[in-house]
Amino acid sequence: MTTPIPLLDLRAQYQSIRDDVLRAIERVLDGMTLFLGPEQGLFEQEFAAYCHAAHGVSVSNGTDALNLALRACGVGPGDEVITVSNTFMATVEAITLVGATPVFVDCDPTTYTMDCGQLAGALTPRSKVIMPVHLYGHAADMDAIMSFAREHGLLVIEDASQAQGATYKGEPVGAIGDIGCFSLYYSKNLGAYGEAGICVTNNTDYATDMRTFRDHGSRVRYQHEIIGTNARMDELQAAILRVKLPLLDGWNERRRQHAATYTEALRGVVLATPEAEPWAGHIYYVYVVRVADRDRVKHDLEAAGVLTGVHYPIPCHLQPACAPLGYKRGDFPVTEEYADQILSIPMYPELTDEQLDTVINALKQACSAPASAH
Ligand SMILES: *Cc1c(COP(=O)(O)O)cnc(C)c1O
Repeated sequence: MTTPIPLLDLRAQYQSIRDDVLRAIERVLDGMTLFLGPEQGLFEQEFAAYCHAAHGVSVSNGTDALNLALRACGVGPGDEVITVSNTFMATVEAITLVGATPVFVDCDPTTYTMDCGQLAGALTPRSKVIMPVHLYGHAADMDAIMSFAREHGLLVIEDASQAQGATYKGEPVGAIGDIGCFSLYYSKNLGAYGEAGICVTNNTDYATDMRTFRDHGSRVRYQHEIIGTNARMDELQAAILRVKLPLLDGWNERRRQHAATYTEALRGVVLATPEAEPWAGHIYYVYVVRVADRDRVKHDLEAAGVLTGVHYPIPCHLQPACAPLGYKRGDFPVTEEYADQILSIPMYPELTDEQLDTVINALKQACSAPASAH
């Protein structure tokens, strides 16, 4: 059998940028400034400009980005952060790490992002921040979230870890709320060759605070204003990210083209294909369909040489780690139902027409197979 089609293949992308990446690495190593040097400073400026934000604060990963943003917003023990159960666990970890309590809402059945109709029910006198997640590369409904937040005196921290280049009503996500947090983990649409993340904001105080937190609470060397942490981005990653950033829009456009091809071919084959709201510039970090008998379909695809993923099989509120929060099955029915149906199929800019055909045909086969045959 030929080599399977992976969920994500970064080798082709690397080949297309190899010379520039190696030159960038060489530049950093020749200079031997490995932290808080020129590359991360320039990347901060370039990424902030890309997001139409005044400030960028480079950090070590997306979880730290969320953690520092929460700290800059003064969130701590006794505070509640309203977020979604339908997200990657890191969203919840960051909230818990600062000592605050996550309060979940369900997801919208079409966009998979925050169901804004449930915000009122989640509000308490302890609510301090709303943390929407632009899941799969589709923006949450920011107008609804911002107006609810402003009405009730809450701050908004966007978890934009899956949304580098995604837009809401034409505006890049990240700087719509008070702070936007991006993971730049290697598998994201804009990814380092290792770990990285960045916060963007239009608020100078938040930017200053996050810079202080990320470097041991220090602005002047060996003078520590506050208890901070080590959450710095290294110069090698910054230099690599600077090579990739100018290419991001082109890569996202290729993803959108592949998504259109998938959607055209798979409508009626699967239970649901992704639907982008008219206000969302979707970047398809993952392309997620819903199917009946998901685990069997996943297995059949694997046998046909098509590798898939599930983002995510267990909703956060049902994770063992969240047991102390006291949620139970039935609390968020949309998230729970979808967790058993969702399937992420191969998605990356360099997918060939032939690979797209293989995926589509394998999925058609798997979805028409009678369940009893297995
Ligand atoms: C990837 C991701 C994170 C965490 O990012 P890391 O860089 O892996 O720490 C947080 N939230 C979401 C939604 C993510 O997809």
